[in-house]
Amino acid sequence: MLGFGKQNINIMKKSFLISILSVIMLSVTFAQPYTLSKNQKYPSGGEVSNCGKVTSSASTMTLTNIAYCNYSHCFKFEEAGGDLSDCYMTKRLKSKVEKLGELVYNEWNGEYRILITEAWDNNKEHSGNSLHYEGRAVDMVVVDAANIRHPEKMGRLGGLAIEAGFEWVWYEKNHIHASVKK
Ligand SMILES: [Zn+2]
Repeated sequence: MLGFGKQNINIMKKSFLISILSVIMLSVTFAQPYTLSKNQKYPSGGEVSNCGKVTSSASTMTLTNIAYCNYSHCFKFEEAGGDLSDCYMTKRLKSKVEKLGELVYNEWNGEYRILITEAWDNNKEHSGNSLHYEGRAVDMVVVDAANIRHPEKMGRLGGLAIEAGFEWVWYEKNHIHASVKK
């Protein structure tokens, strides 16, 4: 009887260890960076393998319109002649941008918002087969109410973009580039 009891204790010890190990492994698997450092990309494997490659050209007919400016995000229009093409994006990208806007708003108590400097590119300004051509990528920075940029908050913006559910995020040069699947 004594031996049987010891065996039971050993089995309990083993299963306890196994559950601790699985918790550790799970948290390692799902640990997302809180912030991104410059040039960091998440997740690894590259944009195309996480989001799929560009296969078609987008148009205002196939894309969805997002608000030009509200409490959580704003667009910086770089195109001449009142071209509002940046406001067009896929439905999936729109939902992630809106989610990220909420997260940014909550993170800094409404003091900052996202400034989107580029989304859909209908002028072929990007290299190669950029996801911007399909309205599946945004470039953005953090600005305050006076529209002044805050580079010190960019790393955290990258972390929040991952939380918002973008499939691929890159702290590229001076902005965060974030993209989604089709
Ligand atoms: Zn970009």
